[in-house]
Amino acid sequence: MTKYIVVVGSIMSGLGKGVLTASIAKILRAHGYAAFPLKFDGYLNVDCGTMNPFRHGEVFVLEDGGEVDMDFGTYERFLGINLTKSASITGGKLFKRIIEKERRGEYLGRDVQVVPHLTDEIKTMVRDYAKETKADIVVVEVGGTVGDIENNYFIEAMRQLLSEEQGIVVQLTWVPSIAKGEQKTKPTQHANRLIRSLGLNPNIIVAREDEPLSEEAKEKIAMFCDVQKECIFDDPKVEFVYELPIILEQQDFYSKLSALLSLSIGKKANWSAWKERISKIKNAKKTIVVGIVGKYASIKDAYASIYEAIFHASSELGIRAEIKLLDAEEIEKKGTDVLKGLDALVVPGGFGKRGVEGKIKAIQYARTNKLPFLGLCLGMQMMVVEYARNVLGWERANSTELDPSTPYPIIDILPEQKRIVEKGGTMRLGGYEMILKKNTKIWEAYKKERVVERHRHRYEVNPDFVSHLEEKGLVISARSPNKGIVEAVEWKDSFGIGIQAHPELSSKFERPSPLFVALLKHASSEG
Ligand code: GLN
Repeated sequence: MTKYIVVVGSIMSGLGKGVLTASIAKILRAHGYAAFPLKFDGYLNVDCGTMNPFRHGEVFVLEDGGEVDMDFGTYERFLGINLTKSASITGGKLFKRIIEKERRGEYLGRDVQVVPHLTDEIKTMVRDYAKETKADIVVVEVGGTVGDIENNYFIEAMRQLLSEEQGIVVQLTWVPSIAKGEQKTKPTQHANRLIRSLGLNPNIIVAREDEPLSEEAKEKIAMFCDVQKECIFDDPKVEFVYELPIILEQQDFYSKLSALLSLSIGKKANWSAWKERISKIKNAKKTIVVGIVGKYASIKDAYASIYEAIFHASSELGIRAEIKLLDAEEIEKKGTDVLKGLDALVVPGGFGKRGVEGKIKAIQYARTNKLPFLGLCLGMQMMVVEYARNVLGWERANSTELDPSTPYPIIDILPEQKRIVEKGGTMRLGGYEMILKKNTKIWEAYKKERVVERHRHRYEVNPDFVSHLEEKGLVISARSPNKGIVEAVEWKDSFGIGIQAHPELSSKFERPSPLFVALLKHASSEG
């Protein structure tokens, strides 16, 4: 029988519930259990595909094409596995199912209610997920903070689930210090009372703090919140999020968890490879500087997976990578001086016109200055446009997404996309295979012929122009197996790869993306 761990956030958002959920699942996996994360999000979007990265951070794309919350990136990077879209239950997805059922007459004669219909539906989705994954343990992250109007019905469903199945509740909290040595537990006590008033009784409390919890603070929390003192854990500030599972393990987290869930002992966890990666980066002597030219330059979260992929590669190689987020519109207006001193450049994906000319200028700078370069999705498309304009001399070459009347539509809409009008979940989404050409830089990076990477696009390199580009030296280094979509291109004279997919999405802490490793290798040897 599957067991459940329900993780709820209290007091305020931004305490790191996603990292905690991922860490708990990682610890269980390290001890031999099939633990799978699942997340509730209260918003009424069916998925994250239509959300703006400015407001909500990056849209994460799963192998099966699901467009989900960025926490799923954290889960996958920690656990080294690919999740499916059934791991994401949003308010919109839930209501859509209920309303469709109602229209089909499945509740005939009844008024459809939050309890029991909505809560039953949530429990069914959670149990189906447990079956699909064959999980020993499902770790459920309840998005938002307890007390939010949006997640109330999810919490009620978890109250019911935990009375029907074996499981526990983990409360993430914050214990501020108003002066050194003066830790305040009152917010935690109030938040705990609120959680218990909704029928969930936390068994474990994990506390973000500024200094290790004092015995006194632990005693207070234990008394007022009805948890054992040994089940209160420190969640300190760390340099790298990947340190959290180790820090929890040092506090004997697993043995408390296994006692509460009556798990068998499980295997002894071996953290040596995980720790080795952390110490490699902590002890790194060399630092390189990687620029990311984006339109969401003020929002780091919009490029979370790229940051992480660079981090994974740098911990593999034992070099530090400092990331400079550069504003594409600034480069458009003021030129490429800000790129001086970079050791590598990444131009990420994106939609729409804003900042694109700046990205093209940056790519031209990278090509002509032999700066190691990686173009992702729109970044790859602009790499091709830059080549057409500046090497082939086709001045107004462009993507029809950005200039519908360009005389050189180098990038054009995919034929199957032409008739699509609905926006949600209709792009070319998820993992698609590509065939790499031998003796190319991309082949050197992956060292195999067939590779699956995740996609999220409507446009492609226009097949009508491919031979012209090749004649002038642009290498077409990967294609899709049957449709012949150009999946990757590269420069001949220096390290520059453009890829239609998003390799940053499949990079894992213990299995970095080969393309990012290749980029950093070149950056550190030439820098
Ligand atoms: N806007 C481009 C397209 O739809 C690129 C998308 C992306 O970068 N994810 O093809």
